[in-house]
Amino acid sequence: KSFEELGLKPEILKGVYAMGYNKPSKIQENSLPIIIQSSENLIAQSQSGTGKTAAFTLGMLNCVDETIQEPQTICICPSQELAVQIFEVVKKLGQFTTIKPILVIKEVDLPRTITNQIIIGTPGRLIDCIGRRQIGLRKMKMLVLDEADHMIGVRGMTEQSERIKDLLPKGIKILLFSATFSSSVDNYTKQYVPEPRVSIR
Ligand code: AMP
Repeated sequence: KSFEELGLKPEILKGVYAMGYNKPSKIQENSLPIIIQSSENLIAQSQSGTGKTAAFTLGMLNCVDETIQEPQTICICPSQELAVQIFEVVKKLGQFTTIKPILVIKEVDLPRTITNQIIIGTPGRLIDCIGRRQIGLRKMKMLVLDEADHMIGVRGMTEQSERIKDLLPKGIKILLFSATFSSSVDNYTKQYVPEPRVSIR
């Protein structure tokens, strides 16, 4: 399969080529049809280096309605460093769109009302902003959890991610990425993601 066949909007495809990607990696080929062309939820097993960031980043960019200046998709990350990396990928892949992503992590100044369509952040700061109504949720359509295995056992992260999910509109599309699947990760992901399709790198 080629990137053209995946149903990406033309301006996003331009971003893909600007990055120098010629063909989808395995995880992209397996997951992008589920992410872009179906309404199904996804659990994906994927390590760093497989192209997983671009997979869900392209999904987030593609789901945005650029005419609406409100948050439409959130990516929850277990660390600030990861959030920053994802933010950079979103900016690069989305460089030919008008989509404005925002980083919601500690020590970043945020506007009183966030109008950015793509939100990337850590669980604690996200919950904080949602509680203050800084992030509106009514236009939300996609939730991504990256490195879900790294959230387990880290103080409050799984609970905070669960609360964020519960506050989002019902029926929102959920994508979860994890490098490992021990039984505790498996239990967590299965209750976090209802009726998932499963995709493996
Ligand atoms: P990740 O697995 O998300 O950490 O990505 C690993 C590296 O692969 C990053 O440097 C990406 O820019 C690169 N990459 C992602 N998708 C592709 C692709 N389809 N073709 C070539 N490189 C890619």
